[in-house]
Amino acid sequence: MHEASLVRSLLSQVSNLLLEHNGESVEIIRVEMGPLSGVERLLLEIAFEQQVHDTLCRGATLQVEEVPLSAVCRDCGDEFDIERFRFVCPSCNSTRVRVTGGDEFRLLDVDIQTKEEALPR
Ligand SMILES: [Zn+2]
Repeated sequence: MHEASLVRSLLSQVSNLLLEHNGESVEIIRVEMGPLSGVERLLLEIAFEQQVHDTLCRGATLQVEEVPLSAVCRDCGDEFDIERFRFVCPSCNSTRVRVTGGDEFRLLDVDIQTKEEALPR
């Protein structure tokens, strides 16, 4: 399963960040994914729940930001977001559009609880 290996590398990336920052635990893991990333959100979330307990990230919440498919018109140069896979320029109705974004899957940021913050005051 594609999503399982994505989650595996995501969790090892975040675990390394946790160690680098001498953190206590990971609170939130934020990722962004575009509609052309080939990632199924539901499968991603299932894979996350299955794997997170066995890692340093246990207890963390996964937040998925879905980014729109973006494009630029080859005729008028307008930049716009594509909705419902309608590849038409909203300014000039041209169909000569070039997709410029929406295939990404990447880690945006993580909230790490550090040991200092975890101390009782
Ligand atoms: Zn146009």
